[in-house]
Amino acid sequence: LLGADGRIAATVFAEMSALAQRTGAINLGQGFPDEDGPAVVLEAAIDAIRSGMNQYPPGTGMPVLREAIARHQRHWYGIEVDPEQEVLVTAGATEALAATVLAFVEPGDEVVTFEPYYDAYAALIARAGGVHRTVPLRFPEWRPDHDELRAAVTDRTRLIIVNDPHNPTGAVLDDATAELLVELAERHDALLVTDEVYEHLRFDGPHRPIAGRPGAGSRTISISSGGKTFSTTGWKIGWVTARPELVTAVLAVKQYLSYVNGAPFQPAIATGLDLPDAVFTAAAASLGRRAELLSAGLEAAGFVVSRPRAGYFVVADAGPLGFDDAEELCRRLPELAGVVGIPVSAFVRPEHRHEVARLVRFAFCKREDVLREASARLAALG
Ligand code: PMP
Ligand code: GLN
Repeated sequence: LLGADGRIAATVFAEMSALAQRTGAINLGQGFPDEDGPAVVLEAAIDAIRSGMNQYPPGTGMPVLREAIARHQRHWYGIEVDPEQEVLVTAGATEALAATVLAFVEPGDEVVTFEPYYDAYAALIARAGGVHRTVPLRFPEWRPDHDELRAAVTDRTRLIIVNDPHNPTGAVLDDATAELLVELAERHDALLVTDEVYEHLRFDGPHRPIAGRPGAGSRTISISSGGKTFSTTGWKIGWVTARPELVTAVLAVKQYLSYVNGAPFQPAIATGLDLPDAVFTAAAASLGRRAELLSAGLEAAGFVVSRPRAGYFVVADAGPLGFDDAEELCRRLPELAGVVGIPVSAFVRPEHRHEVARLVRFAFCKREDVLREASARLAALG
């Protein structure tokens, strides 16, 4: 995790946001919205602060939030979890992932993920001394090859981390792959860890969590977060749901990472989780329109685009524009077009960078006028 000079290598998100700030370019790099989410959610946090909810909350999370998470799992997915024993509140999905990996991965244990993957996975697996095995998802369909998946999961596999909907590709898990994942986890006695932070940002149908599939419930650790659903990425309220023994193991690590998490944000996220379905579906539809707007803009500029089905990001191939090196392109993009994007190579192992060399990830969780302006600027590239 340290660079050659012994200093911490900044995450690609921090690096690219700094580049955007320095150059004044439109930041389609790091995924965060440029507008607030539901006002009632924001007001609930303000009310909580005013009412004195400013001291340490319980380590497992405030009951009001744990109960709302349990209601949410039942209402949206028909999954029953006990708010007392099967829910743990964390500092975003990031801490949930960190505590889960540190709780279950011993040195030499293998952890399987798809690739590209969210960058934190590789760092956490390395920190735990685990061995990271990856299964490629290939542009533009991003469907895993089932033989490659079967070959990656073995009796040495401790965890299979599944990010669905997927960052950076915008892909969603197909039923056959989800069933195979459950079958492989069972056969090799591995745990399934799901990262579902984009669960409510699906554009073409409802999200279907792995934990709700037959045979999966007892070996799945489900992770999500309020950041994306309510456009509150700075609040860092996430959660784990799993059977009690698994939650206890994660809590054992979590209690010495952060101890507890932002008290006033917890009742506010609970308020959000109880909002009517229409609020969630309207937000997803609005994001879906913006995904289409930016995808069309990128195509008009000459990129080849993989249409995202969920999430915050679209991946585009810069090859047709004459750019074979997306890392170099992203470094120069502020100067060439006044836009920041992130090379997909940031989401793969160093030895696989050449396979995604021409691909750039752009965030569309921005206002429509911003996306129109970015599209117009990118059109000047060709
Ligand atoms: N997982 C994925 C796939 C993400 O894209 C992100 C970042 N938005 C996270 C986890 C981290 O979520 P949080 O901000 O809740 O820690
Ligand atoms: N998840 C967001 C992204 O992929 C932000 C991640 C971060 O800042 N660490 O851009």
